[in-house]
Amino acid sequence: MVSKKILIIEDEKNLARFVSLELEHEGYDTTIKDNGRLGLEEALNRDYDLILLDLMLPELDGFEVARRLRKEKETPIIMMTARDSTMDRVAGLDIGADDYITKPFAIEELLARVRAFFRREDHVHALEQAENTTFRDLVIDKTNRTVHRGKKVIDLTRREYDLLLTLMQNVGDVVTREHLVSQVWGYEEGTETNVVDVYIRYLRNKIDIDGHESYIQTVRGLGYVMREHK
Ligand code: CA
Repeated sequence: MVSKKILIIEDEKNLARFVSLELEHEGYDTTIKDNGRLGLEEALNRDYDLILLDLMLPELDGFEVARRLRKEKETPIIMMTARDSTMDRVAGLDIGADDYITKPFAIEELLARVRAFFRREDHVHALEQAENTTFRDLVIDKTNRTVHRGKKVIDLTRREYDLLLTLMQNVGDVVTREHLVSQVWGYEEGTETNVVDVYIRYLRNKIDIDGHESYIQTVRGLGYVMREHK
């Protein structure tokens, strides 16, 4: 199997080296660039599977690197930010970062985040091959990652979409919260699964029709299921 290639753009040399060693130990192939301009150049010239991008960088800051990279490429980015403010996070995700991690972080947390990222990505690739794109009167538009009911287009966030499509690929089968949290979020087994319930609620609010039974049934203590009418 070819190693996933990760570009680390980070000017704190010790941190960059430490992160690199740990990732290499996990079997990833890493490259370090210690300023924004060189990092951007490298990201444009070679194809990486993931970029770990520091926010505060000499020459070009992380926002600018992400912004310029996004004009050319969709390489996924995990933003590393020392500034723990909501604005930075939102701005980071707006300019096309896929996730963020706040410094200082425990290395295990970063490794878990990277593993989660690749696991989720594998699942999303599988969803792109998904065959089952209708459920009752709901029709999935895979190109635009939206769902339709008749002429009505229901906009879903990426997570809501992945969640719905995952349930639709298992029509008639109960899908456990643990399975959903692992597939849709990429989190390791044994993590908190409340997030699943929260997103099921979001999803129901968007797709269900007032006064009608929900498309998604709760199976108490177990998970969720979408069942065709008998
Ligand atoms: Ca820095």
